Amino acid sequence: MPAIRILVAEDDRAIRELLVHHLHRGGFVAIEAGDGPTTLRMARDGVDLVLLDIGLPGIDGFDIARTLRREGRTAPILMLTARAEEVDRVVGFELGADDYVVKPFSPHEVLARVRAILRRSGMSQDPTPRVLRFGRLEIDEAAREVRVDGIDVSLKPREYQLLLVMASNPGVALSRDTLLERVWGYDFDGDERTVDVHVRRLRMKLEEHRKLTTCLHTVHGFGYKFTQG
Ligand code: CA
Repeated sequence: MPAIRILVAEDDRAIRELLVHHLHRGGFVAIEAGDGPTTLRMARDGVDLVLLDIGLPGIDGFDIARTLRREGRTAPILMLTARAEEVDRVVGFELGADDYVVKPFSPHEVLARVRAILRRSGMSQDPTPRVLRFGRLEIDEAAREVRVDGIDVSLKPREYQLLLVMASNPGVALSRDTLLERVWGYDFDGDERTVDVHVRRLRMKLEEHRKLTTCLHTVHGFGYKFTQG
């Protein structure tokens, strides 16, 4: 299967290069555009996904998204927005965008969104099975298994996903909101206590039952942080 081509349309060079760097590391082919007209031209040449900054010189991201959809181009679009007011427009307008991220974002978050969009649209990357290892703890993404000292820990799907999201961002405090979004999805209408309940179960299974050093830390009034156990 040929590599997936992603167009990074962003006029802020530092952000663009950061994204390109992480996309390359993630096994994607990334091409770059720093203004609206170039973005439109490259998107028309054919790409698999567009990371589209809204505030682009020449033609803004809204117009580019509308134009591409009007022309019948179906490549998924992930909007990069700088302000909350833009989010309202992204969500409210019939732009045909598939998802959005708000600046400042972490490249890992963008990569996770890109992979989710590609999965939803049936394009998947050649799976590069990843095994995350933290001392005695192992998370095997290909097998969706978690092991401590090589022995399986039985986790429910949400517990697994929550641990994976946290362990993929070691040392980063993630808010309950962020965790809800990444594990349960945008349209989940439960409350933030759901996160607490699942963290509690993970702690029981990993830290109490398997005597793993504390790896899930509470960040008071905010959320949780994973550190190497
Ligand atoms: Ca911009």
